Amino acid sequence: MDVIQACHDPEPACERCGRCLSVCPVYRDARIETLSPRGRLDLIRAVVQNEIQPGQRYESAIHSCLQCLGCTDACPKGVDAAGSIRTEKARMMAQSKDTALKLEALGLKLALGHRLFLARAMRIPRLVCLKPKTPPDSRNDPVIRHLPLFLPQALAGRPIPDLFPGHWADGWPAVIDPPAHRSVKGEVFLFTGCFFGFIDTRPLVAAIRVLGKNGIRIRIPRSQACCGAPASLSGHAGLLDKSCRQNLAALDGQVPVLTLCATCGNTLKNEYPARFRRDPRLGILAEKLSRRVQDMDEYLAGLDPFISGPTPLNQRAAIHLPCHLNRGMHAGTGVEAFLKQLPGLDVQLLDGADECCGGGGLCALKNPDLSRTLGHKKALAVQQSHCDLVTTPCPGCLLQIRSHLGISDSRIQAVHPVELAARTWTI
Ligand code: SF4
Ligand code: SF4
Repeated sequence: MDVIQACHDPEPACERCGRCLSVCPVYRDARIETLSPRGRLDLIRAVVQNEIQPGQRYESAIHSCLQCLGCTDACPKGVDAAGSIRTEKARMMAQSKDTALKLEALGLKLALGHRLFLARAMRIPRLVCLKPKTPPDSRNDPVIRHLPLFLPQALAGRPIPDLFPGHWADGWPAVIDPPAHRSVKGEVFLFTGCFFGFIDTRPLVAAIRVLGKNGIRIRIPRSQACCGAPASLSGHAGLLDKSCRQNLAALDGQVPVLTLCATCGNTLKNEYPARFRRDPRLGILAEKLSRRVQDMDEYLAGLDPFISGPTPLNQRAAIHLPCHLNRGMHAGTGVEAFLKQLPGLDVQLLDGADECCGGGGLCALKNPDLSRTLGHKKALAVQQSHCDLVTTPCPGCLLQIRSHLGISDSRIQAVHPVELAARTWTI
């Protein structure tokens, strides 16, 4: 697709009402108009109309957007500011001669195209970790160590996850039937995503267990690819297209496509149709897929009846709502509805549950200071909730919250909601 043409698509015009300013985490932190959604739209319009020449400050204004979708969600005129910023970033990337960006694109291309290799390469950083840290969560997972301080500012001191043994591409069956004593009540495709598919596979294993207990047959299409969100969020639109085409073929069918990761879900549901809206064939396929994509928690909440295990959890859980779940997939209420069905679990939304935690997308890498500020604020809200654990269906949010809870020496667990459901059979 011609990204420049897409940038010029007719869409509702910004009326400069300023409603989006109060929801933009970047603007709220910086209080600079050009770092607000409205300000960025003004800049893009000025560049498109040749009123200004894009320079370094322009580029950093565009790159500072976290893609939290707050502005698009809040705009009373229906302006998709987040989408315009994303498209402009893609245009800038396509025209850039910067060697570092070309290397970044090459690295992403290799990583997205060779996920197994990436999963193995992820073991290397563990060898150079200097500071083992007692994991904040009481399950004693060998999860968290800290990256050495000589690494770039964005990574210094941040925890990285251990790899968990086994992943779906490593000999797992492509079709998983419910246990023999359960009749088949439904069938789904499982989109694994990269993080839950290859790195921390506990939510994926839990989801397979919970779906099976509920009589759901699971298909895990072997040829599924990364959703493409890392490419999209960093502006490498060509790489997103490649993932998109591969997944449209791999996930073709009639049954629901379930995602465990809010960003994967948002990409499949919203970005694919947007990317291919001018392509008569792929556009129809993308729309069809979009209608089938559903967040795991929302799907489980909708089962009638949902069957949980017999063991009460006897815990209080606070919910953080990922931006891409709440404002992208509009599935935020599904998490609470699902968790309320688990025995012995008290559920409450965190204060500011829908505010960005600063961990999604590439925020920690591209905006390390803001990421730290938002992560610290979120960890504080978790601690002030006095809950036993915090739960959220997004790997970026989980890593960010675990990181900042660890920094605060908190022992509050951060887990995916479906892991809690699986525990009702195992505790
Ligand atoms: S993008 Fe929407 S909310 Fe923001 S200033 Fe323009 S019209 Fe108002
Ligand atoms: S997507 Fe989020 S960070 Fe980006 S301009 Fe909109 S509100 Fe601000």
